[in-house]
Amino acid sequence: MISFSPIQTSTTQTPPAATSSARTSLLPSHHHHHSDQLSLSPSAPQPIHSRRRRRLHCVRAIDAVQPYDYEAYLFNRFSQSSKLKIAVVGFGNFGQFLAKAFIRQGHTVFAHSRSNYHAVAQSLGAAFFSDPHDLCEQHPDVILVCTSIISMESVLRSLPLQRLRRNTLFVDVLSVKEFPKNIFLQVLPHHFDILCTHPMFGPESGKHTWQNLPFVFDKVRIGNEDSRNNRVETFLDIFKKEGCTMVEMSCAEHDKYAAGSQFITHTMGRILEKLQLESTPINTKGYETLLNLVENTASDSFDLYYGLFMYNKNAMEQLERLDLAFEALKKELFGHLHEALRKQLFGKSEEGIHRRPMLAKLPKNGTPLLPPQSEAVINKNN
Ligand code: NAP
Repeated sequence: MISFSPIQTSTTQTPPAATSSARTSLLPSHHHHHSDQLSLSPSAPQPIHSRRRRRLHCVRAIDAVQPYDYEAYLFNRFSQSSKLKIAVVGFGNFGQFLAKAFIRQGHTVFAHSRSNYHAVAQSLGAAFFSDPHDLCEQHPDVILVCTSIISMESVLRSLPLQRLRRNTLFVDVLSVKEFPKNIFLQVLPHHFDILCTHPMFGPESGKHTWQNLPFVFDKVRIGNEDSRNNRVETFLDIFKKEGCTMVEMSCAEHDKYAAGSQFITHTMGRILEKLQLESTPINTKGYETLLNLVENTASDSFDLYYGLFMYNKNAMEQLERLDLAFEALKKELFGHLHEALRKQLFGKSEEGIHRRPMLAKLPKNGTPLLPPQSEAVINKNN
């Protein structure tokens, strides 16, 4: 346990817990007569008599009675400074999921949504405001936009920004990134900070832990002051503390990667859902992963999936690639079948003349697709 000199403690802000009577009784009786000692600077040379007097005030014994619980006081002050008031705008599936973690970590959560989530918010320990004016008058440190992708712009434009503190931090968690970044830059006055993020997990995949799950962020516009930078770090710390893998990346880069990974995943999940797959008594591990994929993607709203498609300019190309890949695969299968049939029909006489067509892979992601008239299947004889 560390012990502190009353001189040092008295130079800090008076903690609320320390009543004046407690201070009078616990501090050395002559303490308040020597107000000059309160401003001792460690760097300034002190006259000898002053240094001697200072030593008189030092608490040397480790377990000496302290004027108040100074360590607890320091700890509280530190943790207060690392706590944020976060306004979650869009308190649906994902907004509530995030709010739980914020509250668990001791942050204050305000919520606002189109629907009434008073009871849900209360049960989680958040305060719900149906009227956005009331929400903004709480002067949150962070406005966290958690609405559907397709409603984000209208929701943002409906917020009474003039009621917020001038340096409020705006964060979004939309599953596409260039779109909200551009809307934020268009709509928000320059005195607001902007952080675009995408937690690469949801209420299903992050149900048990966020350990090692990627969290993508782009500090789009953060003012120069230390306090603004600290606030962003405090917000990011929430995800670090949960064990997320923090990935700083531009919104454009995110959208390129996400179309080729997340959009494909959701599309495959939705295709499989249409097949109405069912568990069997002889499921393979691979089949289990397909069933899990359906479960993971089907619980997300169609608005979310539609947003991934409409608001990521790379998504359309991915649909075309899927189409081409499926066609090419069918051609390869039918090519094999065709060859087997011909062998049966014509026997060895054809050997060496016809060779099985080979499936060409599609060009890698990011490379332009073949023009529609060209063949994805190349006959090596041609
Ligand atoms: P969502 O369907 O994408 O969004 C639902 C939220 O949008 C609800 O809060 C809903 O409000 C609000 N909303 C929808 N239409 C609205 C409108 N016309 N006006 C006002 N508000 C409207 O589902 P979600 O899963 O909760 O996702 C929320 C955001 O998080 C999305 O941007 C999504 O891309 C992102 N995200 C989701 C996941 C995930 O796994 N679910 C992961 C990462 C990021 P009410 O509930 O009040 O109607």
